[in-house]
Amino acid sequence: MGRCKKCSIETEALYRCPYCGEEFCSKHITPTIDEFSYGHRCMQYINKMEAVSRERPIPKIPRFPSREPKGEEIDKEIKDLFKYSVLLIVMILIVMIALRVLRVV
Ligand SMILES: [Zn+2]
Ligand SMILES: [Zn+2]
Repeated sequence: MGRCKKCSIETEALYRCPYCGEEFCSKHITPTIDEFSYGHRCMQYINKMEAVSRERPIPKIPRFPSREPKGEEIDKEIKDLFKYSVLLIVMILIVMIALRVLRVV
């Protein structure tokens, strides 16, 4: 026989929260991150959830940031070079066509 930590109901069907270790009735055993009508606001559970959400973004940050931008920079340079050479060829073609048209006229 014990009492639910939240509603103080006296019942034999008490469950122990795996996070905070307090005893609750079947209605209030669910650990929640906020004060809902069901479950109990469990600080240990909140802390654990916050820790998990804090841990997740870390692997996304590159560990060797000095290496990756270099490759990207080279890639960009090659792409720029290619763009400019295509532009140059197009301009030469336009000039050649213009000269030919002018000669015909
Ligand atoms: Zn209760
Ligand atoms: Zn709890």
